[in-house]
Amino acid sequence: MFHQVEGLAVDTNITFGDLKGTLDHAMKALFGSAVKTSFRPSFFPFTEPSAEMFVSCFICGGSGRRGDDDAPCRPCKQTGWIEILGCGMVDPNVFEFVKHNGYDPEKISGFAFGMGVDRIAMLKYGLDDLQLFFQGDVRFLEQFL
Ligand SMILES: [Zn+2]
Repeated sequence: MFHQVEGLAVDTNITFGDLKGTLDHAMKALFGSAVKTSFRPSFFPFTEPSAEMFVSCFICGGSGRRGDDDAPCRPCKQTGWIEILGCGMVDPNVFEFVKHNGYDPEKISGFAFGMGVDRIAMLKYGLDDLQLFFQGDVRFLEQFL
């Protein structure tokens, strides 16, 4: 089981630049203004093109090492980057299914993304066990008030 936040923007003239700008802004709001974002081509069934988005590691600052003993950074696997979500431009074929409701694939475009909330919370708060979210231990939950 996991939880996912999905986003969908649909309008005229939505571009991949809108996708990148929106997600870059969201990652800076989530992880701090110093984080950088990077996109790698990928495949998802309903977006074309599709991409995986990475943020520079906000734990080690992108160096791949952390702490006074220069230990390897586990969250980014010493790469300096953390994969954070999948995204892409809505495939025009998707709009074909709703073109009779005013979504002309020739005029409408959009972007979509999905990211795992649990994973992001684990990274942001340095948690190493997903089960903590579901055990209902008030002592754990109270720290997020
Ligand atoms: Zn790191």
